[in-house]
Amino acid sequence: MAEKIQFTIDFDIDLDQYLEVHFPLVVDYHILSKALDARGANRGKKPRYTYHLDTIKEGERFQRKNEVFKDLGPLKTKPIIVGAGPGGLFAALRFQDYGVPSIIIERGDRAHRRMIHIAKFWRYGEFDTENNVCYGEGGAGLFSDGKLITRVLPMCNTLWIAWSILVPLKKLRIFQIHILVQIKFDC
Ligand SMILES: Cc1cc2nc3c(=O)[nH]c(=O)nc-3n(C[C@H](O)[C@H](O)[C@H](O)COP(=O)(O)OP(=O)(O)OC[C@H]3O[C@@H](n4cnc5c(N)ncnc54)[C@H](O)[C@@H]3O)c2cc1C
Repeated sequence: MAEKIQFTIDFDIDLDQYLEVHFPLVVDYHILSKALDARGANRGKKPRYTYHLDTIKEGERFQRKNEVFKDLGPLKTKPIIVGAGPGGLFAALRFQDYGVPSIIIERGDRAHRRMIHIAKFWRYGEFDTENNVCYGEGGAGLFSDGKLITRVLPMCNTLWIAWSILVPLKKLRIFQIHILVQIKFDC
């Protein structure tokens, strides 16, 4: 019988080694979610991961329920999602699960360009109405600390993980999404 465990460790701790020491009976695991808390990183505090794992011991097996999505194929008109915040991105991802191409329209710019405007605001107080802490690719989620735990994370092995302010967005910007999703910026 699989058992769920949850713990938080510094980002540079090796997960397997941690499990060997603290959960020696665990022989295999699936990562259900992995959330990064980078608050305070700019003050020298180490970023930390909170893991939520499904684990098994010797002689046990995983009981996984695989979600099956019916292929609905392209719809007559592509669904239009307003906003490339976490809500919009995950809506697009769910459409993709069903094989439905969609379009996201986003009033702001791509995350890396958005950062320039935000930096200008923080440094010089120049406010851009379309690219700020709330508007632009990633939405307000761009500045989340990783607590936006989603069940898509285990399948996101194409994620970028990096130490920058873009970490949360990179978690959300799953490369696969671009196969079936078109994102239009500056709308
Ligand atoms: C400073 C800050 C820190 C936060 N920290 C955390 C945290 O640490 N952990 C956590 O879990 N949550 C955090 N939150 C909350 C989290 O960011 C939100 O719950 C989440 O972003 C909501 O997602 P959303 O997609 O619904 O909306 P949003 O993230 O607001 O995304 C909406 C998107 O729609 C776009 N948009 C708006 N109007 C239009 C329009 N007319 N046309 C086209 N596009 C449009 C915006 O540009 C934006 O990209 C934080 C929020 C803020 C503001």
